[in-house]
Amino acid sequence: MKSILAVFLLLISTVALAQPNVPKDYFQNPLDVPLVLSGTFGELRSNHFHSGLDIKTQQKEGLDVVASAKGYISRINIQHYGYGKALYVQHPNGYTTVYAHLKEFSPEIDAYVKKRQYANETYEIELFPEANELRVEADELIAFSGNTGGSGGPHLHFEIRDGSQRPMNPKLFGIEINDNRAPIIDGLYAYPLDADAHVNNSRERQKINLIPLEDGSYIANEIDACGNIGFGVSSVDQQDGAPNRNGVYQIEAELNGDRVFTLPFKRFSFAESRHLNQLIDYEYYSKNKKRIQKLFVENGNPLSLYEDVVNKGELYIQDSLNYNYTIKVSDFSGNERIIRVPIQGMQRNDIPPKKEEKTDYFAQSNQPFAAEANGMDIYIPKGSLYKDTYLDIKFGEDKVKVHNDHTPLHTNITIGFDVSEYSAEEKEKLFIARLGYNDRPNYSSTYKKANRFTTRTRTFGEYTLASDVTPPKIWPTNFNDGQWISNNSTLQVKISDDLSGIKSYRATVNGEFILMEYEYKDNTLTHDFSDGVVTETENKLKIIVTDNVGNSNTYEATFFRKDS
Ligand SMILES: [Zn+2]
Repeated sequence: MKSILAVFLLLISTVALAQPNVPKDYFQNPLDVPLVLSGTFGELRSNHFHSGLDIKTQQKEGLDVVASAKGYISRINIQHYGYGKALYVQHPNGYTTVYAHLKEFSPEIDAYVKKRQYANETYEIELFPEANELRVEADELIAFSGNTGGSGGPHLHFEIRDGSQRPMNPKLFGIEINDNRAPIIDGLYAYPLDADAHVNNSRERQKINLIPLEDGSYIANEIDACGNIGFGVSSVDQQDGAPNRNGVYQIEAELNGDRVFTLPFKRFSFAESRHLNQLIDYEYYSKNKKRIQKLFVENGNPLSLYEDVVNKGELYIQDSLNYNYTIKVSDFSGNERIIRVPIQGMQRNDIPPKKEEKTDYFAQSNQPFAAEANGMDIYIPKGSLYKDTYLDIKFGEDKVKVHNDHTPLHTNITIGFDVSEYSAEEKEKLFIARLGYNDRPNYSSTYKKANRFTTRTRTFGEYTLASDVTPPKIWPTNFNDGQWISNNSTLQVKISDDLSGIKSYRATVNGEFILMEYEYKDNTLTHDFSDGVVTETENKLKIIVTDNVGNSNTYEATFFRKDS
């Protein structure tokens, strides 16, 4: 009885997973232009899955953004990076929609936000309005599209989240995108997964040659293999009307006609998003900037996206047996690309074992790891590495090589430096840097205790102490000291810092705080005179900019304005 119930529950949950019961015509297009995408849901990005649709805005900013359905503004977030200016609408059916990288908000929301930005004297702000404060109807204007935050060009980032704030594929809700093109296959790879497994005479990853057939599918050159093996595929999807190489919707695999693997992009949680680094061949990506999606699930990979995975997606190939492996890559509109892979089981005994670079530093993923020398130390908490790894660590005179960035880290590790040899003045200007291209020092958030500085990082690489003694620069771009600028609608300056980077900025006119919006992508601070806080004729402007080690610079100028 118990087992029948268990099977029954399993069936229910499988069905529920396969077909989320979502309203199909509740949410509408948040823009008044046809939907053309520069990013799809679940698309593979740096350390995360893309959580929404990136909707193209005709290469410009300022398009009307409307509420996708009725509800109320439940969250307003303004950040220099990330989503930039973002709105969250809570809907009565429990879902939340998100609109990000906005240029500005509707006048009502803008007034609500500005009041609080001035009260807190800050541009970056996060607000959670009550349900009765900012109600919106479906199709009501809430904002104008933009390019704020971590956005590489004008577009609207649009999300639909479930009641647990998990992003879901908006296309499941009936939001339609014209797509008549099948996914593109960029490569097929086979992986020997055990010490005694091999593929095409090798114990290493093999690129498999694909032959295109007239019906659009591919047939792979026959593989000879033995033992536990797996496959990986690199693929993208293009939709109608744009050349963007977006993510595909689903990858399935069958072995001799039986389903062994399904990876659809329907829903995930932000907490699991970084495990993307276990779904892709991270080392290959790190070296070649191309993402291979593995069609097998390694131990310790908790991603909830997978469905119908048999034997972890691995294939156990036995000597002198034949197998047919089929991969199907689909987009949401059902266009699909099929790859057939004939496999010949063939035991070979003459292949040398896979060579593993052994070092003195062996770190187990389920144990913390620590090492120190020459006044420098490294601590890796358990669970930070996805698998046991021989680390390449070299303690130099004044820098430490902490492995290499071809290995991903899930959580922060700590790197510490003894700074007791430095004077108090020197210590003030010191920071921990990760050495980048051409050994350029990049600021890594530095925590300073008397004689020990530490940084927490999720990127392996070379770390050292660097010094920044140069204060930030500030220069005006649309006015000059002593000028009449009655016709200007804004006041603009540029700010920059050579090494440690900008930490904070503050602007006043005649001693009163004025709001300036920071756009890091073009180093610009902008004050909008329509805020109505600059009312005098003669105005003394003062802007103080501080870098990450506390060097600061002050810019002062006088400008004149007459009320028109
Ligand atoms: Zn996006």
